[in-house]
Amino acid sequence: MGRNFSEDSVLTKQRNGVKEKNTNEDSITETNDVVEKSTTEYKMEIKWINVLVAIYLHGCAFYSIFLPMKYWKTVAIGWIYSIISGFGTTVAAHRYFTHRTFKANKPLKILLIIFQTMAAQEPILHWARDHRVHHKFTDTDADPYNSRRGFFFSHMGWLLVKKHPEVIRQGKKIDMSDLRDDPMLKFQKRWYAILGFLGNIGVPILLGLWCGEDFKTLWYGNIYRYLIVLHCVWCVNSVAHIWGTKPYDKDISPTDSRFVGFVAIGEGWHNYHHVFPWDYKTAELPGYRWNLSTSVIDFFAWLGWATELKTVPDEIIRKRVLRTGDGSHPYSIEMQNNNNNNFDKLRDTEHFWGFGDQEMTTEDMKYVKVL
Ligand SMILES: [Zn+2]
Ligand SMILES: [Zn+2]
Repeated sequence: MGRNFSEDSVLTKQRNGVKEKNTNEDSITETNDVVEKSTTEYKMEIKWINVLVAIYLHGCAFYSIFLPMKYWKTVAIGWIYSIISGFGTTVAAHRYFTHRTFKANKPLKILLIIFQTMAAQEPILHWARDHRVHHKFTDTDADPYNSRRGFFFSHMGWLLVKKHPEVIRQGKKIDMSDLRDDPMLKFQKRWYAILGFLGNIGVPILLGLWCGEDFKTLWYGNIYRYLIVLHCVWCVNSVAHIWGTKPYDKDISPTDSRFVGFVAIGEGWHNYHHVFPWDYKTAELPGYRWNLSTSVIDFFAWLGWATELKTVPDEIIRKRVLRTGDGSHPYSIEMQNNNNNNFDKLRDTEHFWGFGDQEMTTEDMKYVKVL
């Protein structure tokens, strides 16, 4: 664990060079900032208290296997709790607070804060800051869950060591002006340790006792449930940065992974998400089969509580797929399968005959500068 990561620092500028090359025309929100090379060598310092907590939690989870719940009601409560706290991460912390992919009225915002508190991860202000830095500086020293450091680090190891100084430096610089002074988020941050504990473990234990289950079973069982949810969420940073396809951009590490899409209730389409982070679906997919979190946002949109849901026009997706995808997307396959005589389908629609070409979308029109 005391590995020296100065070699990772050297890769930093190269990675940003690739990104700059990729952001020339689509509305892609990758960064042009340059993460400076670390001047001093970085040695990971273990946070022993976090290591002990992690060992305790995993030990409890293992022990809970031998203490099955006696009542189906407590099992049902556990499942409901897992899903709701999952939405607290995917819909609330991720899609709403970090990426601002839709707007919420006050009741929905309060509900989302409650869901996120039930997830007992980090206060939203910290969660969103780290995740914005992750998107802006993916796979550099400034990336809190830098996947270049291997599966374990990006999965949970990053929580067991002190942050790289570059993560802290960029974390202070990242734009949090929309969230920083929010009184509800400040309140949540202040009381998160207590509220998170009560929300995640306390309430389900009380509900379980009310159902007749004994305390010991509930304590270990709820820790088991908490850890399962955490590992599902962590898979987005580890599995979906290592294994899977890259239909939208083959030059970045995030991948599309059906497995992660399933376990993280819709957050597995990570190659798409890093290319188009403002899409409320975090995926191109229609339907809810691999993306349960989208159904929650659509439900609140139907109620009128969620508004201004942002997504990406098909034409922009198609252009990006054909320009930088790895060839696994149906648009790319369609291109490959067409024979050379089918010029109409084969050519890239980025080629216009001039101003006024019918294929020139209103989106394209925006880039035209009239002097
Ligand atoms: Zn994200
Ligand atoms: Zn990512």
